[in-house]
Amino acid sequence: MAVDPLIELRDVNKHFGQLHVLRDINLVVGRGEVVVVIGPSGSGKSTLCRAMNRLETIESGRITIDGQPLPEEGKALAKLRADVGMVFQSFNLFAHKTVLANVSLGPVKVRGLKKEDAERRSRELLDRVGLADQASKFPAQLSGGQQQRVAIARALAMDPKVMLFDEPTSALDPEMINEVLEVMQQLAAEGMTMVVVTHEMGFARSAANRVVFMADGRIIEDRSPDDFFTDPETDRAKDFLSKIL
Ligand code: ADP
Ligand code: MG
Repeated sequence: MAVDPLIELRDVNKHFGQLHVLRDINLVVGRGEVVVVIGPSGSGKSTLCRAMNRLETIESGRITIDGQPLPEEGKALAKLRADVGMVFQSFNLFAHKTVLANVSLGPVKVRGLKKEDAERRSRELLDRVGLADQASKFPAQLSGGQQQRVAIARALAMDPKVMLFDEPTSALDPEMINEVLEVMQQLAAEGMTMVVVTHEMGFARSAANRVVFMADGRIIEDRSPDDFFTDPETDRAKDFLSKIL
């Protein structure tokens, strides 16, 4: 599968002060691949995601997206962030803008679309995530599950090469988790390249091509979901799975 690499991390290291949060990370995500990242709290999963669109800098090693090193600043960095869509646990919508504006502003500003074209496309995306009738509402008028689907539509509106999800359902009430996972399943089925940090093992089993297990800043397993769940190799993974399954 990794014959056509879209994301490559080579020997990536990152500290926060004394804390070594990413240790010699090597990871290749192929085009169209869905990689689920799991591991205990504090193991470096969010930092790994954030490094991929340069929300965090790294101290050594190399990260490339579609063969290009991550740009440092300016327009190139804005374009990178559009190419690498990110969905966070806390939806991060613009509270004072309508749902439609939340989705359509980025494409106008960063991709240079005309407002009416961006809005037409945004309505299509809102329809795709099941929110066609919510376009003129404000985020606070929506449920958490709806807000998270707006956040997904907003990232998709940039026409990203890859989507990163950092615990997208962790802040949601249980009854809203599935509506978000279903949108993600659909994206995966359509061939979107995805890196997903999640504790939703059902999603990992059904959508992931690979499961990456992190502990203490290292990737200690990188395997098919079947192999990982039926026969974890490391004690850390066994211990982790026994606590969450
Ligand atoms: P995870 O997402 O797996 O829970 P994180 O990547 O958020 O882990 O964090 C890895 C480690 O780095 C944790 O010990 C966390 O407390 C620490 N950390 C994360 N962000 C910062 C920061 N901005 N400054 C200092 N320490 C941080
Ligand atoms: Mg995290």
